[in-house]
Amino acid sequence: MRRNVSRTLSPTTECALSDSNSKVEAIESLQAALQTYWGYDSFRPLQVEAMQCALAGRDSVTVLPTGGGKSLCFQAPAVCLPGLAVVVSPLISLMKDQVDALNSCGVPAACLNSGLSHEEQEAVVQGACQGRIKLLYLAPERLVTQRTLDLLQSIDVSLVAIDEAHCISAWGHDFRPEFRQLSRLKEVLPGIGIHAYTATATEAVRRDIAEQLRLDVPEILVGSFDRPNLNYAVQRQNGVMQQIRTVLETHPGESGIIYCISRDRVEQVSATLNEAGFRTLPYHAGLADAQRHRNQEAFIREEVDTIVATVAFGMGIDKSNVRYVIHAGMPKSLEHYQQESGRAGRDGLEADCVLLFSGADYNLWKRMLEDSHDEALEGALRSLAAMYDYATGVVCRHQAIVAHFGQQAPDRCDDACDVCQGKLNLVDDPLIVGQKILSSVLRQGERFGGDYTSMVLHGSHDKRILDNQHDHLSTWGLLRDHDKATIRDWVEQLVGQGCLEKVGEYNVLRVTTEGRRLLRGELTPRLLKPASRRSSQSARRSKSGAGDSWEGVDRQLFNALKALRTEEAKSHGVPAYIIFGDAALRDMARRRPSTLTEFLNVRGVGDKKCRDFGEQFIACIVDYCQQHELATDVQ
Ligand code: ADP
Repeated sequence: MRRNVSRTLSPTTECALSDSNSKVEAIESLQAALQTYWGYDSFRPLQVEAMQCALAGRDSVTVLPTGGGKSLCFQAPAVCLPGLAVVVSPLISLMKDQVDALNSCGVPAACLNSGLSHEEQEAVVQGACQGRIKLLYLAPERLVTQRTLDLLQSIDVSLVAIDEAHCISAWGHDFRPEFRQLSRLKEVLPGIGIHAYTATATEAVRRDIAEQLRLDVPEILVGSFDRPNLNYAVQRQNGVMQQIRTVLETHPGESGIIYCISRDRVEQVSATLNEAGFRTLPYHAGLADAQRHRNQEAFIREEVDTIVATVAFGMGIDKSNVRYVIHAGMPKSLEHYQQESGRAGRDGLEADCVLLFSGADYNLWKRMLEDSHDEALEGALRSLAAMYDYATGVVCRHQAIVAHFGQQAPDRCDDACDVCQGKLNLVDDPLIVGQKILSSVLRQGERFGGDYTSMVLHGSHDKRILDNQHDHLSTWGLLRDHDKATIRDWVEQLVGQGCLEKVGEYNVLRVTTEGRRLLRGELTPRLLKPASRRSSQSARRSKSGAGDSWEGVDRQLFNALKALRTEEAKSHGVPAYIIFGDAALRDMARRRPSTLTEFLNVRGVGDKKCRDFGEQFIACIVDYCQQHELATDVQ
């Protein structure tokens, strides 16, 4: 049984923690809050440590991946402490989502932003002054106005939480100058703990956050960047639309995101999928604001399954039940990939992250970066190369990602990526194939690019080749049994593995020092066989992380509960996942509770949600069980 912790908390009868409170008591009070309001029975990694900092008023920087449960790190302490917790958040949509979610759990929260009328803002201020609100969300610009600072100085502030704290750092990828003003907080609210939360892993950003906020010997908590519930797969583009469809077909009726590099491509992919009977909407910066907002809302409210988007989409999206993220083109860095793919499976349940890439994506980004004349060009090209290494790599994807962020992963994942699932179709004699390609590059005088080299090896009679008399080279036609696109791919893979480099405006191929080792037989490259169109994706479930999340779940009942959730969400005017997350629905469809007491045992059902929705969901379950002659109250 889960409900064995005393449940004496309510936001208005706070359990103030005196200095003498032991750690055990603090943890117990946090556990009670977790169960009462959120219906969770255990902490995620580092949550308890981060929460203890918040309770003790010790400054902290907590770095956890997307979906790691950062919000609870300050929300649960905010409930346990007397006074008002101030939460700084960069986007109105993010604030609104979190405030809705907190209120739906029975935690009084509000936000102050320009989207509210004057009267609404006054009501929030009154609520804060009278101690009726436990968490107040603000944008940084609003926080540092004299009026807000006066307000905060006149009331009892329990803690300050800074969400998406990497925005304060110019080293981060979302730098927002207005976050810099937060450096004033320490002097304005002396003695109040300041807690920063981010998913951005780099050491430089972490240090910068602590310095900019002038934190006082902060506790730095850095979680593992591995997301074991994500199932990673990488495929070379080979009939992209079919590859996308294959993924979508394994997720009928489920939410997902498809990222494309350009706006045109977004429109194209969305339209083609809709013609094929899928429910998608486009999202990119070229759409009018209102249209973009409508499309985003339709996705959040599950009126469509899939959003097809450029990178403009994502920040501020808290939707927890995204079951797949497909990249229809390669992003320009692994940081971007980690962040965008990380929008899948925030609820801890399994989700697929599929990257469809081509060498052309690499070249496109390279050109764009070079044309941008960015000062940081060198770094950007290094990031691009790391991304390409990941795409062409043949080591465990989980390992490759966490290694990039300077962490060590377990030896390999538990069958949650294409490499560990043995799905990569490797060439049997990569050394010989590699040597043939490299010696052709040398014999051509290292003066030609990938296309030309592939044609020579394929045995082409192209005029240029005949003019150069390269049909007389010993390497001409050496790989004639393979199609040109495959040879071209291998060239890219050899570039990715550092055996060849592309030089100059025309990307002329040159053999590197590593390449010479390959020619001497001292290193063997790993080369992939071409993907076959049909077998390109099976999007199988990961075994790890998400555990047995479908085990014992009646899928038809799950779907019935999902439909009920959609109805409830509509009538309450909130996104579906705010009513209940997918994990809670699955647990309902597994336990099939027929009473409110049993319903409370469902993971993700707290007291308020039990009161608000228990009867409707129980009725749906009992009805279904009667029709299908199924037992209820499964233990
Ligand atoms: P982050 O801000 O780190 O991306 P969130 O705070 O949005 O992550 O949490 C992601 C999901 O995990 C949410 O649905 C949240 O309710 C859930 N969650 C957080 N902590 C726990 C926990 N201890 N047990 C179960 N679910 C949790």
